[in-house]
Amino acid sequence: MTTKRALVTGGAGFLGSHLCDALLADGYSVIAVDNLLTGRRSNLEHLRTEARFEFQESDINQPFDFGKVDYVFHFACPASPVDYMQHGIETLKVGSAGTFNALEAARKYGARYLVSSTSECYGDPLEHPQKETYWGHVNPIGPRSVYDEAKRFTEAATMAYHRYYKVDTRIVRIFNTYGPRMQLNDGRVIPNFMKQALRGEDLTVYGSGSQTRSFCYVSDEIEGFLRLAKSSEHLPVNIGNPSEFTILECAKRVLAVTGSKSTIRYEELPQDDPKQRCPDITKAKTLLGWEPKVNLDIGLQMSLEYFKKAVALDEASSKNPGKS
Ligand code: UDP
Repeated sequence: MTTKRALVTGGAGFLGSHLCDALLADGYSVIAVDNLLTGRRSNLEHLRTEARFEFQESDINQPFDFGKVDYVFHFACPASPVDYMQHGIETLKVGSAGTFNALEAARKYGARYLVSSTSECYGDPLEHPQKETYWGHVNPIGPRSVYDEAKRFTEAATMAYHRYYKVDTRIVRIFNTYGPRMQLNDGRVIPNFMKQALRGEDLTVYGSGSQTRSFCYVSDEIEGFLRLAKSSEHLPVNIGNPSEFTILECAKRVLAVTGSKSTIRYEELPQDDPKQRCPDITKAKTLLGWEPKVNLDIGLQMSLEYFKKAVALDEASSKNPGKS
């Protein structure tokens, strides 16, 4: 039997790199493609000697062909609000041109295709928790629109390739996910709080901290992707943890796990920050037999070593800016 070959766009990112590991463990050979805008080589360092793994530093907004593949996992896109607002045009481009190129690769080789979409498709939702059938409440011209609308376009393009060209597509709507390999300085709430707690700095809670998010540990999230990849569902599926926390509660959990004496400082709430976010995962449970296993306290505990090392490395590199 020949080894199946999977292409992962955004393969050097937080989720992309964990996906590469899971696919290799599942017996695939893997080619990771990333332009390193927000992805990092260090996320793939441990695969340097893996014979079934290949890395291509390349921009998928340009047409590409890395040879025959059996599966395309399209994960390229800045994903933290700080990153996608800094790289707004790149985010829109990878959601449109990059998505067409990834879909074309799947079409050319008759490969299956799975794209990472997002709970941001629901915007600041008026339905709670969010089912896949909810069309969302998105500001199309606000600061987050570069991401939200890029991903909504990505979903539309994916469904069009499925309908018009019969490409065998899947769409996963990812809710807040955390764990090792998140960038310490990407501005997302868990890395921010972990970094602040470990350094003894104030934890910056935006607004009153009453807005909610539902946090999924990375191993649960990846397991959901693999199950969806093996299913025959073409419509979007939510993969996320339905345990909902206020951001203030999340700050307290981080303080408890780190044993930090940091205090909480309230800062201004960013524009269009969704007030609540929680997946209805009935579809994933029924269709894929999937549900998350790791609760927030355990997941934070499992992430602690990584964040301690990341803080130490960050401090060392700010003292010796030339070396990293
Ligand atoms: N947040 C916060 N302090 C921080 C970073 C984020 O209070 O230092 C809040 C942010 O306003 C949002 C939530 O935490 O309500 C999650 O933010 P994140 O950037 O992680 O992801 P989002 O779910 O907004 O895409």
